Amino acid sequence: MVSVTDDVSTQTTDRSNWAGNLEYRAVDLLRPTTLEEVREAVTSGGPVRALGSRHCFNDIADTTGTHLSLDRFEPVDASTLVVDTDASGATTVTVSGGARYGDLATALFEHGYAVPNLASLPHISVAGAIATATHGSGVTNQGLGGAVVALEIVTGTGEVLTVRRGDTASTGPSTSTAPSDITAPSDHTVPFDAAVVHLGALGVVTRVTLAVEPTFEVRQDVFVDLPWESFERDVDAVLGAAYSVSVFTRWRDDAMDQVWLKSRVDELESRPGGALALGEDFHGARRSPVPLHPLPGISAESCTEQLGVAGPAHERLAHFRMAFTPSNGDELQSEYLVPRQHAVAAVAAVRALRDRIVPLLQVTEIRTVAADGFWLSPSGAQDAVGIHFTWLQRQDEVEALLPVIEEALAPFDARPHWGKLFTTDQARLAELYPRLAEFRELAARLDPQGVFRNDYLRRVLG
Ligand SMILES: Cc1cc2nc3c(=O)[nH]c(=O)nc-3n(C[C@H](O)[C@H](O)[C@H](O)COP(=O)(O)OP(=O)(O)OC[C@H]3O[C@@H](n4cnc5c(N)ncnc54)[C@H](O)[C@@H]3O)c2cc1C
Repeated sequence: MVSVTDDVSTQTTDRSNWAGNLEYRAVDLLRPTTLEEVREAVTSGGPVRALGSRHCFNDIADTTGTHLSLDRFEPVDASTLVVDTDASGATTVTVSGGARYGDLATALFEHGYAVPNLASLPHISVAGAIATATHGSGVTNQGLGGAVVALEIVTGTGEVLTVRRGDTASTGPSTSTAPSDITAPSDHTVPFDAAVVHLGALGVVTRVTLAVEPTFEVRQDVFVDLPWESFERDVDAVLGAAYSVSVFTRWRDDAMDQVWLKSRVDELESRPGGALALGEDFHGARRSPVPLHPLPGISAESCTEQLGVAGPAHERLAHFRMAFTPSNGDELQSEYLVPRQHAVAAVAAVRALRDRIVPLLQVTEIRTVAADGFWLSPSGAQDAVGIHFTWLQRQDEVEALLPVIEEALAPFDARPHWGKLFTTDQARLAELYPRLAEFRELAARLDPQGVFRNDYLRRVLG
């Protein structure tokens, strides 16, 4: 197993999160390459936390013990990637929890397949993304966890569990790829809907099986200056206008800044008017003749191709290209999800705070996520709309403002994004997530010694 101390290629940045607002307290970073090494690390006696691509803004991934990175555990390789199709025609792929979506999507494309959706950035790991209910956009698209079909988890006692979609109260035996001396315990019952949005609390997710679909083409059209009245009057038409829609606003008085429409070419072709249905005007917004970055004053070079040029889904569904720094880098983020029927009222409640928000804000993004039924998913119970904030890196001031935003959104039962900054306390989280206590019990059962427990989990689970 490679440890940080004997790996000269390790960058010091591994010791902080991507945004640089958090120095991890971990005393070691291990990079296991086999399941046995993961088990060894987990049972070695100290606190352990799996580390994904470090893109969370809070301390969810932190530990005072050992960080385990799966970046060398079965790296994605198109030549060895196996796409399985079962008797019913369902197609899946199994990858390391440490696989980055961008690498996976590129390899899948070589096989003629695609993941159904991506977040704004392709740089994040699969297990780290589903841990926090990371999502893209689309009224019919669930978060990225919606594509999960099975998870292989090394629990706090070093046991290897496989949890499959459809499991309600019991798990099957360990996967056949596990070494033969590893057997799944018979007394563990792990409902699939509890395990996908896992907060890193249930164990190290070593392998994830994802549903994939034949590759499809997407075109991206960007419009500017959407009148507020259009958003308020036609919210469902605006947010449902394409496979994935993002509305960006800096809360200017006159209009919302940008609307990004990511349209599946096959869907557009079946619409009356085909691609021509996407004209120069979108609910009063104008088509941008040039590619745009969501943040003002930043080159669109780092963004996926726009101007309506069709291309492979994985090169359009994320906002940012794999080879570039996503977003700004010098930033913080928060996001709150509310039931979609409250979209207009919730946005209005935030807009009323614009004078306090704007001085700290780079941009807000509004997106939709379809309900997925997962216990800890902010869009678990209902279709949701996400109101996201990319902040300036002024953490004290941002954290002083968050309770004000949370209070304004409280009537809509706003659920915070698990991987971004929030101040919602445990009592409120327990009200928002009726199964939080059950999840805590499940985590305690799979991790009786509290190997994966960190300050974040103590705070949110209680
Ligand atoms: C520029 C930028 C853009 C973003 N855009 C979006 C977006 O479009 N939509 C959205 O919803 N979010 C977005 N986010 C937030 C981001 O997607 C989430 O924070 C996500 O969880 C990050 O994944 P990661 O691999 O970096 O995980 P990390 O931050 O490394 O870890 C997250 C959690 O997962 C756990 N974990 C990681 N790997 C494993 C494993 N193998 N087994 C068990 N637990 C594990 C960690 O312990 C930790 O608890 C964005 C973040 C940034 C920085």
